Amino acid sequence: MKWQRFLSIPIFAVFLLMGFVYYVTLFVSIEDWVGLRSSDGSFHASVFSFLAFYSLFSFFVCVLTDPGRVPSSYVPDVEDRELSDQEFRRNVKHQRKCEICSTYKPQRCHHCRTCRRCVLRMDHHCQWINNCVGYWNYKAFFILVFFATVASIYSMVIFIACVLQKDWKVWGQSHLKLFYVVCGTPVLGLSMILGSLLCWHIYLMANNMTTIEVLGPNMLKWFLPAAVGHLKDGSSFRIAHDTRQIT
Ligand SMILES: [Zn+2]
Ligand SMILES: [Zn+2]
Repeated sequence: MKWQRFLSIPIFAVFLLMGFVYYVTLFVSIEDWVGLRSSDGSFHASVFSFLAFYSLFSFFVCVLTDPGRVPSSYVPDVEDRELSDQEFRRNVKHQRKCEICSTYKPQRCHHCRTCRRCVLRMDHHCQWINNCVGYWNYKAFFILVFFATVASIYSMVIFIACVLQKDWKVWGQSHLKLFYVVCGTPVLGLSMILGSLLCWHIYLMANNMTTIEVLGPNMLKWFLPAAVGHLKDGSSFRIAHDTRQIT
């Protein structure tokens, strides 16, 4: 049962962190900065709630989507006689067999020891979603990282604005300062970690395949994590030596 994936300590920690950041942003930062019931406060609370909701939705899609199984009918296509001998040898070399599953692995398919199976276009096994990031949920994972990064930076900016406008001569008690340090540290840390992760995946996509290949040809559907109708069966890709031959 895929819902059982939610029964893990890292996922519980993610929910806890999301709830904490949401609470701090609305009921500490915005409340202290402009007041939650003011028009500015309502606007910022709505924008942040939308970002938080979309992050949560993408998180669910990441956890519940099967990252991709090798089709049972998959047979390595190494008999293409239109290829040159050199390309033919390369093709054979890339057809690997999983010793554990005893099945052929298409390009970019790897065996995950945690999931105990082969995963199509495996990126990595992510303990925070208790699932592999693979062919069918890579888009949802990227959107999750994107929206979580934007939400964290948004929260960080509001927190900094709140701290800067505070009159610390009046509110300078040490226990209050400690409260703000406890609230601000996770927000700042999360922004830096997620920002780095987002840059890393943008770099991967830019060097490995185009954004359209990953996210789909319709820009209106780029930020819909479950819109993956443009994907094929995940058993063949343009690989590194193909790129070198073209350029
Ligand atoms: Zn395997
Ligand atoms: Zn895995």
